[in-house]
Amino acid sequence: MPTYDAPLKQIRLALNHAAEASGLAAIPSMQESLGDVIDAVLEGAARFAGEVLSPLNPIGDRTPARCTPEGVTTSPGFADAYARFRADGWTALGAPADDGGMGLSTLVGAACGEMWAGANLAFAMCPEVAVGAVEALRHHAPAELRDRYLPQLVSGEWTASMALTEPQAGSDLSTLRTRAEPDPARDGSWRLFGRKIYISWGDHDFTDNIVHLVLARTPDAPEGLKGISLFLVPKRVSGANGALVANDIRAISIEHKMGIRASPTCAMVLGERDGARGWLVGGLNEGLACMFTMMNTMRLGVGIHSLGVAERALQLARAHAHDRHQGRTSAGPNRPIIEHADVRRMLLQMKALVGAARGLVYLTAATLDVENFGASSGASSLAAGDAKRASASPRASLLTPIVKAWVSEVAVEVASLGVQIHGGTGYVDDAEISQIYRDARIGPIFEGTNYIQAQDLLGRKIIRDRCVTLNALLDDVQRTAERLPACDLRTQMLANCANLREVATTLAREAESDPNLVGSVAHHFLQWLGVVIGGWQWCLYADDDPQTAAFYAAHVLPRARMHEAIVRSGSEAFAAVAPTSI
Ligand SMILES: Cc1cc2nc3c(=O)[nH]c(=O)nc-3n(C[C@H](O)[C@H](O)[C@H](O)COP(=O)(O)OP(=O)(O)OC[C@H]3O[C@@H](n4cnc5c(N)ncnc54)[C@H](O)[C@@H]3O)c2cc1C
Repeated sequence: MPTYDAPLKQIRLALNHAAEASGLAAIPSMQESLGDVIDAVLEGAARFAGEVLSPLNPIGDRTPARCTPEGVTTSPGFADAYARFRADGWTALGAPADDGGMGLSTLVGAACGEMWAGANLAFAMCPEVAVGAVEALRHHAPAELRDRYLPQLVSGEWTASMALTEPQAGSDLSTLRTRAEPDPARDGSWRLFGRKIYISWGDHDFTDNIVHLVLARTPDAPEGLKGISLFLVPKRVSGANGALVANDIRAISIEHKMGIRASPTCAMVLGERDGARGWLVGGLNEGLACMFTMMNTMRLGVGIHSLGVAERALQLARAHAHDRHQGRTSAGPNRPIIEHADVRRMLLQMKALVGAARGLVYLTAATLDVENFGASSGASSLAAGDAKRASASPRASLLTPIVKAWVSEVAVEVASLGVQIHGGTGYVDDAEISQIYRDARIGPIFEGTNYIQAQDLLGRKIIRDRCVTLNALLDDVQRTAERLPACDLRTQMLANCANLREVATTLAREAESDPNLVGSVAHHFLQWLGVVIGGWQWCLYADDDPQTAAFYAAHVLPRARMHEAIVRSGSEAFAAVAPTSI
């Protein structure tokens, strides 16, 4: 079985296009961080993916993490791989230099993340949670907490977990029950009691300590989402003599899952004794807003990971299509299956979707870099009239749910095509493609299900925004399409830009009087916009790979018409259907 082979040429190309399209390349201080030094970083990350992570991927699938009375034991070889990952400095890649990081762009982090996830998604999820926790703590934690925890998280000495979900509180966090009470010692800390489920990397044997970011309610907090606060709850806390001692939080079991089996998904209990010690991050009852900093990072992370998995499916399917001989073609009997038109169709579909997904993921990462650059350098340094920088923040917010939801569904589709190309070989457990398919399936579910993303996109980021950010994005898409010579891709893209503007405006108007409208059409609206933004990427790559660009126009972009028709049908098909009649 071939190990993961990083597509460095495609990654470099997508990186350059994303830097141009987002305006990142025009920022002088960023040009340096996109230059030759990045090639060395990408090559190092590619080596780590291919040589260390990829061989462990099937091992993790067959020998999942285990929960023991002493804690979680990870799959064979994983703890050593983490030690190497940390020693090589990869945990510090994107963190600012002030916090001990390398300060590289989110864009470069996305490229490395794609490769690590493509080689071993279960492993890649662990450092990704720490990246999200660093973001949340940097923005919301008081100075003493930042000083105490950021250096260890950035160096990888400790990892992190994100603890939101409870049995009764999944998509709807308003019903959270975990409670936090002021510590009787009145030293500013809190004692937490409750149960959390599905906590990724909630326990493991990689590091001595884990920094859990936990949502909980304080006494007398308002009901619902307005009464939730965020707490930092370490697995181990400083004891009397300064040594680390166990805090009152532990993993009591881990899930046996369909995929990402090497990633321990833990049920956690807090406060079996006198309460788990925790410290408030951000203001009282502002937990959800603080957690959103982490969740937005993680949502882009789902897009990055899904892209990695989809690329790996393409690699495996391509190799199999060359190796497997079956059937007659014009070249004779018993030919490699890649010579059959339908196998080439599937492979091209995978390639076209992966290219579109990579473009969208990198564009979003680059847009975040433009936003962060604007924030760190102060508004006064923004060149007058530089609309790209001024619009980076709302544009990144608009793109994030699309990256999370569209790319994760693309990954499931691409992995499924990969299984199909493998035939029966792809359906047996030993085939890596079967693992990839199962691993990819988590993307549409966690970090807010894809419906939650679609509702966020259409309800908050488009309708509440009065379509301003959407229209500005469509202006850019249109300008790129107009630069193409006359072709199917150009024609369809221009039609879609006009139709998306018109339909979004109509939805914004009709949603005022139809409370079911957004919920009824949000999924198809997001898919429509995803397909079109994917087409935008192929407009940008048209000179580099005209064949796949034309294939995207012929085989993928027509889906936009289907999504458009369903969106235009509104909520009518739902309105008359009673839940009991389905
Ligand atoms: C492998 C794995 C790892 C995870 N890791 C973490 C982690 O690290 N930390 C953490 O806190 N959680 C984690 N989770 C939990 C995950 O985020 C939740 O499973 C997810 O948010 C969905 O919640 P739920 O499972 O309760 O589904 P539900 O909320 O019950 O949703 C079920 C279905 O109903 C739909 N639905 C729900 N509400 C609405 C609505 N209002 N309108 C329309 N449709 C709706 C959903 O879209 C979905 O299709 C993990 C889960 C898994 C499986």
